[in-house]
Amino acid sequence: MKKFKTKLISLYSVLIVLIVFSLLVLVNGVVKNAIIAFLTNELKSNAVYVNSYLLSFHRPVSLSLFTEREIDNTLKFLSKKSETRITVIGDDGVVMYDSARPRESMENHLYRPEVIEAKKNETGTSSRLSTTLQSEMLYVATNFGRYYVRTAKPLELVNRLIGAITKNVIVSGLVVLVISIVVNLYFATSFTIPINESIHFIDRFFSGDLNARILNYKDDEIGYLQASINKLAEVIQKRIQDLSAEKDKLATIIESIRDPLVLFDRYGKIAVYNSAFGRVVDSEREIVGKSYFSVIRNSELNSKIHYAFTRKDEVVFEEVVKGKNYQVYILPFRKEQDEGILLLMQDVTEQKRIQQLKSELVGNLSHELKTPISIIRGYLETIKDVVDDRKTVEQFIEKAITNLERQNAIINDMLKLNKLETTIHGKNEHVSIKSIISQCIDLLGPKIQKKNISLTLDLDICAEPILANSFLAEEIFFNIIDNAINYNKFGGEIDIAARRMGSSVTVAVKDSGIGIPDDEIDRIFERFYRVDKSRSRETGGTGLGLAIVKHAAILLGWEIDVKSSISGSIFTVIIA
Ligand code: ADP
Repeated sequence: MKKFKTKLISLYSVLIVLIVFSLLVLVNGVVKNAIIAFLTNELKSNAVYVNSYLLSFHRPVSLSLFTEREIDNTLKFLSKKSETRITVIGDDGVVMYDSARPRESMENHLYRPEVIEAKKNETGTSSRLSTTLQSEMLYVATNFGRYYVRTAKPLELVNRLIGAITKNVIVSGLVVLVISIVVNLYFATSFTIPINESIHFIDRFFSGDLNARILNYKDDEIGYLQASINKLAEVIQKRIQDLSAEKDKLATIIESIRDPLVLFDRYGKIAVYNSAFGRVVDSEREIVGKSYFSVIRNSELNSKIHYAFTRKDEVVFEEVVKGKNYQVYILPFRKEQDEGILLLMQDVTEQKRIQQLKSELVGNLSHELKTPISIIRGYLETIKDVVDDRKTVEQFIEKAITNLERQNAIINDMLKLNKLETTIHGKNEHVSIKSIISQCIDLLGPKIQKKNISLTLDLDICAEPILANSFLAEEIFFNIIDNAINYNKFGGEIDIAARRMGSSVTVAVKDSGIGIPDDEIDRIFERFYRVDKSRSRETGGTGLGLAIVKHAAILLGWEIDVKSSISGSIFTVIIA
């Protein structure tokens, strides 16, 4: 950027130099012409004067009659007095007298410019370098009929005068130039300081410092302009803040939508998207402004977007992307001048899984409930045939009742699970785990005795009450101990021991039972999953016990760890 200060000073300097130069040309011209005119007049009068002297000799008109001495003395006198060179030239050009040199040494003067002019116009003037005097001279020749009187004065005076004028004008010009530079510098500085401040402010403002303002402005036009710029900045700052607040709000809303969402402009380029969409398309870099087909690597999605763009019609379909099920909505929109497409991918994987689980559960439950009904029906039909055989009838009725109880147990466990899923259970009571385990053992006492199982307890560590939920805790320990009995051998052992592990307490229920194969350990917590169906049925199991345990542990924030081998299993409850 060329500086205003430099421009102003250069302009003024050039102007002053031009003015000085023009002034010099003008003044020198005028002065030179005036002096030459003045000298010409003086030389003319001198010629007339000389002529009057020549005539005063009352001699015949022919100059050749003058004695040289007479002429010399007279003309010398006149030349000296008037400081004029006097030359008398005959009409044939022969120099008859010259005050500067002896006439014999002078050449014919008929073709001197002033003589040629005087021959025509009575007087003639010429200024040139005199070969005789070696200086510039002004000659005036006057025609007096038979002779010419030529008077001449040196022009040196004119040149000296012009030199002096030139010197003075140049000195004055230089003084004016210096003054103009100083004044301009001051003026330009007082002018450019606020302008530079304003430029500096605008640079800062544009580079993002929205709080920048112009300070200390004066009470003049530039100050008024600066105050107006400040007001403008105020308005722009407010607008930008409002807009960025709106943008942040929109970004927060879009980001808070967990499902992938993206907005394409009318050219199919990404205008806005959330990080869920970024994850779906595996993009770590910014993808705003990129075309949908360069970002989305799923041909089905791309062709549906293309369809929506060309048909301006919404498309809804299901698609599997990176192992997840999505319900995809492609919705074209148009608002005033704006148009584009909104793509929303609703993750329905969990919904699908639940749906799948539900249908599996209904299948399992129907099967579980149907089996005892078929068995009961079989017994009842048999009873009809053996109605006289009281012993067999009693036996079959007993078996039918057992199956009814089993059915009842399944329904009860299902209700329990449902309760766990639908009711809010918090850690809202102070319960002693030791007491809860003791209660469970009391309830299961007859079973333990029946199987002649020896029980070891080491529960002192968990005697102190902790914050929990007694219903959930009881369900966990009852089912685990019940299984330890059910899947134990006759005369086996159960060892229940509480230990401290860091800040947690663990309760391990160890049995000497049949154990669980490694590849089935992960599945035993599923509803109705049993390793050995007939064994479970024998023990009156519903296949729901560990599902209840798992659910209750999740609600309490506890963990269940299972280790098993052919010599038995250890179910460890980690109490947080
Ligand atoms: P069930 O009512 O059949 O016992 P559970 O949900 O309580 O159902 O247990 C699921 C399955 O896990 C059982 O059928 C059984 O095969 C296995 N299981 C559970 N606990 C033990 C254990 N202590 N020892 C051996 N197998 C066990």
